[in-house]
Amino acid sequence: MSRLLVVDHDVMIDGGQHHDLQELFAEANERYFGGGVRATIVWGPARRPRRRKKFTFANHYLRRRLIIVNRALDARWVPRFVMAFLVFHEMLHSVCRPRREGGRSIVHTPEFVEREKAHHSYARAMAWEAKNLDRLLRS
Ligand SMILES: [Zn+2]
Repeated sequence: MSRLLVVDHDVMIDGGQHHDLQELFAEANERYFGGGVRATIVWGPARRPRRRKKFTFANHYLRRRLIIVNRALDARWVPRFVMAFLVFHEMLHSVCRPRREGGRSIVHTPEFVEREKAHHSYARAMAWEAKNLDRLLRS
C-alpha cells in the first residue's frame, strides 16, 4: 500500500505532457455530475499489455476514490475528446456502483452503459478507440 502511495506522489508532481487530467475531471464534474464526484485522478506508469489483447485505460480504486490513468495515453496522437470521455467513464464508476450477480461483480451494469451514452463525445470516442486499438496495444 505505501509503495502505491509513493508512486501516486511521483505522478502528481510529474503531471502530464499533453493532457491535463485535473482540467478534464473538473469539466466533466461540472457538466455531468453537478460537481458531486470526489476523487483523485493521477497519471500512473505507462502500462503496456503483454499477450492479452486488452488495453487498460485506467484503474479505479473505488474505496480510495483514486483513479490512476495509463500514461501511455498521455500522447499527442490521443485526442482530447478521447481523454474527456475516458475521465467521464471513470467518474461514472463512482456514481454507478458495481453489482454482485451470481458471485461475480458487474462493473459495467446496464444502467452504467446507458448513462455512458450521455457523454457528448460518446460515439466519436468509441469510434476512435475501435480504430486505434491496435496502436494503443503497441504504444
Ligand atoms: Zn469502466
